[in-house]
Amino acid sequence: MTARLEDLPIRDDLRGLTPYGAPQVPLPVALNVNENTHPVPPEVADDILDGIGQALGEINRYPDREFTALREGFADYLGHSLTRDQIWAANGSNEVLQHVLQAFGGPGRTAFGFAPTYSMYPLLTRATGAEFLAGVRGVDYTLSTEDAAAQVDGARPDIVFLCAPNNPTGTPLPLDVIEAVYDASHGIVIVDEAYWEFAPREERSALTLLPGRERLVVSRTMSKAFAFAGARVGYLAADPAVIDALRLVRLPYHLSALTQAAASAALRHAPTMLQMVDEIVAQRDRISATVEALGYTPHESWSNFVLFSGVEDPAATWQALYDQGVLIRDVGIPRSLRVSAGTEQETTAFLDALASV
Ligand code: PMP
Repeated sequence: MTARLEDLPIRDDLRGLTPYGAPQVPLPVALNVNENTHPVPPEVADDILDGIGQALGEINRYPDREFTALREGFADYLGHSLTRDQIWAANGSNEVLQHVLQAFGGPGRTAFGFAPTYSMYPLLTRATGAEFLAGVRGVDYTLSTEDAAAQVDGARPDIVFLCAPNNPTGTPLPLDVIEAVYDASHGIVIVDEAYWEFAPREERSALTLLPGRERLVVSRTMSKAFAFAGARVGYLAADPAVIDALRLVRLPYHLSALTQAAASAALRHAPTMLQMVDEIVAQRDRISATVEALGYTPHESWSNFVLFSGVEDPAATWQALYDQGVLIRDVGIPRSLRVSAGTEQETTAFLDALASV
C-alpha cells in the first residue's frame, strides 16, 4: 500500500500544487526546454576535465564556500566594471531565484510577474511561502512603461520578476520599462536575463542599470547560451548588500567543488562556448520565417525559441510532431506552441514535420 500525497501532513499551502514537469522523453529531436542542443566543444571539454581532475584531488575537503574564483570569472565575463562582491551563483538560475525569494520574499510577502511568463516564478514563490500575483501584458505580450509601472504600483509586491526576453513568448523588454517598474516599486526587482546572449548584440543589458539601484538584481544562466544545462550553474549581479542577504539563506557549500571547477573552466573559454549563439539565432530566425510561410503567426523573439500562434488544435499538433519524433512544448497559451531552435538538422526535422501536419 502506498500513501497519497493528500494523506500526508504536508504544508497546507502546498496542497493542490503540481511540480514542474516538462516531459523528459528520449525522442530524436528534443526542442521543448530551450536547451542549447550543441554539445560543448571538445577542446573546452578537455579543460573542464582537467579542472574536475584537480578538484578531485581535494574532494575530501568542503569546497570554497564563497566560490571566489568562479565569482571572479562571472564578473570578468559580464564586464560593466562589475566585481566579485556583486556576483552570486547557485545550482542553476532557478536556485539563484529561490535564494532571492528566501531572502526577500517568504510568508506574508508577495512576488509579482507579468503573465504569461516563466512557469517557475509562481512555483518558487509559493514553495518559499509567499503569494504570487500575476499582472497582464499588452498587445503581442509587450509591456509599456505606464501600464507596467501602474500595475506594480497597484500590487505593491515585495519582489517583481521581469523576464528579459520573456519566456515563453520571446518578447524583448525595453530598459525604460525596467526603470519605470523599479521607480514604481519598493521591493526587489529581478531582471531574468536567462536568454540575454541571443538578443541583438547592439542592445543594452539591464546590467547597465545597476549603478545607483540597490534593489535591482540581474540574473543569468550558463544553461542556454553556454550549453551547460546539465552542469546546473546560474548567477546574478547586484549590489554587494544583496549578496550579503543571499549568504543568509544559502546552504553552506551549496556549489560543489566539481561544479565550481567545471564552470570556471567553461568561463575561461567563453568565446568558444558562445560560438554557437549566432548559429542558433540564425535557426531561430529561420523558424520564424518558415512557420509564417506555413500560415502561422510567430511572435518576435530575442531568445533561442519561438512561440507561434494560429495553431487550431495545439494538443493535436503537438502529438502529430511527437509521433514524428519531434518534441516541442505546449505552454498552455491558446492556439500556440513553443519550439526551441536546434541545430540546422534538428530545425529542419521540426519544420518538415510541421509542414506535414
Ligand atoms: N529563467 C528562465 C526565464 C528560464 O527559461 C529558465 C530555464 N528554462 C531558467 C530561468 C532556469 O534555468 P537554469 O535553472 O537552468 O539556470
